[in-house]
Amino acid sequence: MRKPKVVIVGAGPSGSACALALAMAEQAEVVLIDKSHYPRVKVCGSGLSPHALSMLQRLQLIPRLSKMHARIKAITATGPGGSKLRLETGRDAWVVPRVELDHLIAETAVAYGVTFQEETKGLELLRDPSGAVRGLRTDRGDFEADLVVCADGSPSRFSLDDSPKTTIRTLMGWWRGASFPEEEGYFVWDERLAGYYAWVFPEPHGITNIGLTIPAEAPDAKRLKALFEEILEQYFADGLKGAEQVGKWMGHPAIISTKVGTIAESRALWVGESARLVSPGTVEGISFALESGIGAATHIGNHFGLQRGFSPLAVRGYQAITSARVLPKFWVAEGFVRTIASPLARRLGRGVVDGPLSPLIETGVKHLLGNAKGVE
Ligand SMILES: Cc1cc2nc3c(=O)[nH]c(=O)nc-3n(C[C@H](O)[C@H](O)[C@H](O)COP(=O)(O)OP(=O)(O)OC[C@H]3O[C@@H](n4cnc5c(N)ncnc54)[C@H](O)[C@@H]3O)c2cc1C
Repeated sequence: MRKPKVVIVGAGPSGSACALALAMAEQAEVVLIDKSHYPRVKVCGSGLSPHALSMLQRLQLIPRLSKMHARIKAITATGPGGSKLRLETGRDAWVVPRVELDHLIAETAVAYGVTFQEETKGLELLRDPSGAVRGLRTDRGDFEADLVVCADGSPSRFSLDDSPKTTIRTLMGWWRGASFPEEEGYFVWDERLAGYYAWVFPEPHGITNIGLTIPAEAPDAKRLKALFEEILEQYFADGLKGAEQVGKWMGHPAIISTKVGTIAESRALWVGESARLVSPGTVEGISFALESGIGAATHIGNHFGLQRGFSPLAVRGYQAITSARVLPKFWVAEGFVRTIASPLARRLGRGVVDGPLSPLIETGVKHLLGNAKGVE
């Protein structure tokens, strides 16, 4: 019997991981489609949590990535009151620029036999008279498929999820020659960021990336550039003395939710941010993207039938397994944001570090970096 033809739209970590996992298991004939030409820049802090690293391990990519990462061994977190807490990460967190990470995963998928169709924009899902997906319409013609995996990130053109959600705005830039301590990252939960944060991550080759996240409805989100300038000046001016900015500031929205909407049909699956799988508290999404891409490949291998697609039970199963994997983490992250944004947290000021909210800062950091261990 022939293998199913799977078209994956979007070659970020979710789509490429799905393509690679399917190809490694020789489970499908895979066409991976992206509107960009690779390697391509992606607006992202590029921080890889221990969970993301364990997913990359499953894809056998760690040996190659170990030559192209910066390490974060400690972070300094500044609370809403301005107090600081230094934490050493119990396990490694890496930073691999997305231009390199995403290219590596897609390139490895191609080496395993995936067809990579770059500079091709997916326009709409093609459906047969019964409503079942039968392929993808693109600006370079139609691609017939037994199954389409939507991995087009955020905001997704293909998402069927109409549940309430929040948009998080971001702005970030890259600098060469900054003088922050080596192998350290920074998080600042400034009051103006309404529960969200600014970060500093070291990248390889002497580059540092700095950015901020803020809910779109927060008053200061309307003056994002001015706010970023103020944050850079207030918290990071010393480290940036003598540094040279590389490229322009860039932003990209993240759409967060504490629910998992419709992410499966008989002949279509959604993965990564296209399924809104990104942490509501920290906007960490690479691990969820990789995990969902690999999980989708496993689900296809175990449950997809050429004739009937996924059974109704397999559709519900994908939905349930994905929800069980991510929602507990999302709820903790959402609780963290609400607490940090609360007037109580602001009033406590110094107490954020010395008092009962200290474990919360640590929880937030753990979500970004994994098993962080407090040292001060
Ligand atoms: C500023 C910022 C900083 C972040 N920092 C971190 C971090 O440090 N660590 C972390 O874990 N997460 C971080 N995230 C989240 C992370 O970037 C995402 O969760 C992750 O990229 C999601 O992966 P994905 O594969 O689902 O989508 P994406 O990485 O967005 O990939 C989607 C791909 O689809 C392509 N595409 C889109 N539309 C179409 C179309 N119509 N046709 C064809 N191709 C299409 C795009 O070109 C893109 O290559 C950050 C996000 C932002 C915005």
